Amino acid sequence: MPSTLFVPPLEGRSKDTVRDCVSSRRLPNGLILLSGDPLAAEKTARYLAAGVVCGEDSRPCGACENCRKIMGKLSQDVIDVLPEDGRQGVNVDAIREVRADAYITPGELDIKVYIIHDADKMNAAAQNALLKVLEEPPSAVHFILLSSNTAALLPTVRSRCWTIILSSKESQTASEKKNADLAMRTITALTGNRRSDVEGMISDLPDDRSEYRGYILALMKGFRNISAAKAGRTEALPDDDAGTFLRISRQFSDAALIRAYEQAHSALTANDANINILTSQAALLAGLWNSIYKLQ
Ligand SMILES: [Zn+2]
Repeated sequence: MPSTLFVPPLEGRSKDTVRDCVSSRRLPNGLILLSGDPLAAEKTARYLAAGVVCGEDSRPCGACENCRKIMGKLSQDVIDVLPEDGRQGVNVDAIREVRADAYITPGELDIKVYIIHDADKMNAAAQNALLKVLEEPPSAVHFILLSSNTAALLPTVRSRCWTIILSSKESQTASEKKNADLAMRTITALTGNRRSDVEGMISDLPDDRSEYRGYILALMKGFRNISAAKAGRTEALPDDDAGTFLRISRQFSDAALIRAYEQAHSALTANDANINILTSQAALLAGLWNSIYKLQ
């Protein structure tokens, strides 16, 4: 079973932009990720890079060689450009090296991605050096600028880049919590032996594709927790819900659990392939029901 993937904290148009990049496998040559959380911004940069080169329909899958290399910071074509001195940002010499390197074709991927950390701390000389390559970038080369303050970037740099705004940690946590609750309700409904309770969940499922993705991931995590509870690995369970998972785990056979997990995984693929969301949700809930009751 693949591990739960990082979900970029995004809302509204920024979310649509990221989804479109991944589904079309295209990144702009210049991209600014605006966030007060540097780690989330960096993970989002890797998510995007993996999203466009991953071979799976449901991408980034997090499991293929490209995904693992990119997310594990092991790809030679996804290059972190870090300031030597955190206060001053990447200096002009480093940007000149990046510029020269950008004209060397990628080694293992179809694209080359430079993740420029603390981009807003670069001085004007460094930004102008970057601007030269942003104005005429080699086609397969992408610059992702991580920034907490776009006002500190030169207008000329900003105008060459798309900007994606990451949501704050608080709203991300709220959406994760909502999806975890919905997933738990779905799983509880599954143990109740009433088909209408499971299929009736459809009215509560998110009608936004990215939120729905978060729900499916929460569901998969729930099934993994049940699996851990069945195996007696209580240390792997969330403290608050350990008792619930232990209780629920007795009502699922191993085979049913695997089938249910596979249903959720197919729903993820369907959602990422832009299948009609209501159709996909109805198929998921019916499939979950069948995987627990019909085939046992
Ligand atoms: Zn992949």
